[in-house]
Amino acid sequence: MTFPPLREELRGIAPYGAPQLDVPVQLNVNENPYPPSPECAADIAAAVADAATSLNRYPDREFTELRQALAAYLSSDTTQPVTPAQVWAANGSNEVMLQLLQAFAGPGTCALSFAPTYSMYPEYARDAMTEWVVGHREDDFSLDLDAARALVLERRPAVVLMPSPNNPTGTALPPEAVAVLCEAAGDGIVVLDEAYGEFRRPGVPSALDLLPEHRNLVVSRTMSKAFALAGARLGYLAAAPEICDAIRVVRLPYHLSAVTQATALAALRHAPALLARVADLRAERDETVAWLQAQGLRVAASDANFVLFGTFADRHRVWEGLVERGVLIRETGPQGWLRVSVGTPAEMTAFKDALVDVMKEQAA
Ligand SMILES: *Cc1c(COP(=O)(O)O)cnc(C)c1O
Repeated sequence: MTFPPLREELRGIAPYGAPQLDVPVQLNVNENPYPPSPECAADIAAAVADAATSLNRYPDREFTELRQALAAYLSSDTTQPVTPAQVWAANGSNEVMLQLLQAFAGPGTCALSFAPTYSMYPEYARDAMTEWVVGHREDDFSLDLDAARALVLERRPAVVLMPSPNNPTGTALPPEAVAVLCEAAGDGIVVLDEAYGEFRRPGVPSALDLLPEHRNLVVSRTMSKAFALAGARLGYLAAAPEICDAIRVVRLPYHLSAVTQATALAALRHAPALLARVADLRAERDETVAWLQAQGLRVAASDANFVLFGTFADRHRVWEGLVERGVLIRETGPQGWLRVSVGTPAEMTAFKDALVDVMKEQAA
C-alpha cells in the first residue's frame, strides 16, 4: 500500500501552476499590470469593512445583488440583455467550469476541446472523472468547421470547452464556429470561455450575442483579467436559467463568501474606469504584435491581453535568456512558441530590450 492512498490516476502528478519566480518584470500569467485605482481599492475596503460586521452569518447563498450587477454589466457588452437568472458565479471561472463538469459530465462521458487550448481543462475533466478528448486547430489556430463538427458528432461530448479568445494563441472563435459546435453538440453543453472577452478587437463579437439562439451555450467570464481582480477570485457565466439552476445542485454550501461578494460588487461599480485601462492594454497589445512582426518573428493574431510568438529552435533557451535579464514570460503553446502577457509600457520596453539582446546573443 502507498500512503496517502491517493486515487490511482492522481499518483505522481505535480500540482498545476506557472512558476512564480521573483523577477522584476512578470509577464507570464496574463494578469492585468494595473492594480485597482486608489478609489476602487478604497471602495472595496469600505465594502469589506461593512460586510465584516455580519460575518457571524452565512452569506446570501444566491448572491442576488451580485447576480444583478453582473447581468447589468454583461448586458452592456451584448446586443441581447442578460437577466440575473441567466447568471452564475463562483470562486474564479476555474471553479465555474469545474462545476459545469461536475453537473453535466462525469463517469462514462467525455469533455472535448481543440488544441492548442487552455491547459487547465484536462485537469477539470480528470477531477470530474470525465474522459478528456482533444481535436486540433489549423496551423493558423483557427477551427476547421467540418472536422470540428465531425469530431463532436462522433464523440458526443457532455461538455465542449473552448476558450475564445483562445489561451495560449489569442484567437477568437467566429460566431459561425460557435453555431456549428452548439448544433453538433445536441444536448451537450458548449462552454465559450471568454476570460479575455473584454480585450477583443473592435468588430469581434462576443458569444453572448448568440445565447438566445442556443440553449446549450454557456459563456464564461472572469474578473481576473480585464477587471484587475485576479486576487479576489470571482468568475461567472451567462447561460439559460435552467443551466444556472442545475449547477446549484453541485455547488458547495455558501461557496461565495460575503467578503468575495462585497469585493466584486464594489469593483463592478468601477467598471468604466477599469475598462479604460483595458483600452490602453489593447493598444499596447497591437503595438507588441507589430513590433514582434518587425523583428521577423511569427506572431499569432491576438484578441487577448497576451501575444504568442516564435518560432524558436530552442524556445527554452530564449525563455531562460529573458529570465536572466529580469523578464518572466511563459513557455507554453505548440513547440517553438512563447507567450508574453501585455504589461505596462515600461514593462514592454524591458521585454523588447531583453528579447533583442537574447536573439542577438543566441544568433552569435
Ligand atoms: C485566466 C483564465 C481564466 C481565468 O481563471 P479564473 O479562475 O477566473 O482566475 C479562465 N480561462 C482561461 C482560458 C484563462 O486563461
